[in-house]
Amino acid sequence: MAHICLDCSYKGTRFPQGACPACGSRNISSGEKDTQAKPPSRWSLFVLFALWAYLFYAIAMKLLVD
Ligand SMILES: [Zn+2]
Repeated sequence: MAHICLDCSYKGTRFPQGACPACGSRNISSGEKDTQAKPPSRWSLFVLFALWAYLFYAIAMKLLVD
């Protein structure tokens, strides 16, 4: 699990004696949620839909031309 120093923003997994190795502070936060997978946003779903629409459009045009 990653920890982050709240005083100097040092990130790491090893904090000897519970103190930040960079600045010596004990003001450390643990249990970050940064590594959790985020659900797909509305924008990414729109891009996915647009790509599929373009694919079908390209196939349809190719069939019409041939
Ligand atoms: Zn620090």
